[in-house]
Amino acid sequence: MSARLGLARPLLAWYDRARRDLPWRRAPSPYKTLVSEFMLQQTVVATVEPYFQRFLERFPDLPALAAASEDEVTAAWSGLGYYARARNLHKAARAVVERHAGELPADEEALRALPGIGPYTAAAVAAIAFGARTFALDGNGARVAARLWGVHDSIDVPATREALRARGLAEVPAARAGDFNQAVMELGATVCTPRAPKCGVCPLSSKCRAHATGAAARLPVRTPKRKKVVVRVACCACVDGAGRVLLVRRQAGLLAGTWALPTVELDGEDAGDAARAAVREVGVRAGRLVARGAVRHVFTHRDVTAEVFRVRAAARRVRDGQGARRWLGPEELASVGVSSFTQKTLRVALGPHPVPGGAGLSRGTERRR
Ligand code: SF4
Repeated sequence: MSARLGLARPLLAWYDRARRDLPWRRAPSPYKTLVSEFMLQQTVVATVEPYFQRFLERFPDLPALAAASEDEVTAAWSGLGYYARARNLHKAARAVVERHAGELPADEEALRALPGIGPYTAAAVAAIAFGARTFALDGNGARVAARLWGVHDSIDVPATREALRARGLAEVPAARAGDFNQAVMELGATVCTPRAPKCGVCPLSSKCRAHATGAAARLPVRTPKRKKVVVRVACCACVDGAGRVLLVRRQAGLLAGTWALPTVELDGEDAGDAARAAVREVGVRAGRLVARGAVRHVFTHRDVTAEVFRVRAAARRVRDGQGARRWLGPEELASVGVSSFTQKTLRVALGPHPVPGGAGLSRGTERRR
């Protein structure tokens, strides 16, 4: 790799002219930075914006978020996908209240020690919220850096990313470290895009190795992705006489931690038999199952097809009431975290709008920024 490129001056001048007006950049605060960084993991800016606004109205600061229940937090996240992020953000907020008296720590190591905060998020928050001279390398940053330095090694390999991070760090100016990090992210999102980078308008084109050698479109190199695992499941909506539906909180596997219909993975058996067994498993005496149709949902690593059934529940008795199973009416469905996949299965089982405000919220697999 070549030596230091002197990126700060042209990049920051461009950022001052071209940066987008985003809600977390208005009256910025460490809390806004933290929430936005969690939301932007795996999800594009346009999708995040309205969720961010609503989330901040619902939980205006860290203590408010820490004081909320997990259900309230996942409900506010509902439809944004990747629910582990919501649970981790909530845990991090509680840890900040317990360990740091409700004030987000400025130190990268202390941030890294919070639940759910990895090296990227710790560096991004330390730089953006507190001006720490560090470099946050996410997928966007790795792409931009691989092109700038003409790196043809796979950016999925940790050693390559670490080398790119070191190169990036050497470019970060002490005075505007946060803006420099945001400028790299902004360049990756709007100019140095995955396909068809706009080198003609790029403020760094005169310093870019990939541009000089005509390799921009071929970089970065990535390790081929493994194929998604194809999964078939059966699920069943148990509906009681009052129109309430039984949801269970999944303990592990697909959608762990979220509320879903009783669901069982199929291994060649009849979907109706499996759905009936799943219903029995949660302690419901079921009548005749009615097949309602199939739902397909593509997750990051799995391509899931669900056969959906519906049944009148003969009894509201369930085996435990310890918070893992709940009968919910339509309004209550909106108050718990219901994933896009579960919203789809509920629509097929119950009709078009089982979750108020939930229609059309299927965005689980979008790219970051
Ligand atoms: Fe990316 Fe092209 Fe700019 Fe290089 S010149 S950083 S490839 S947009």
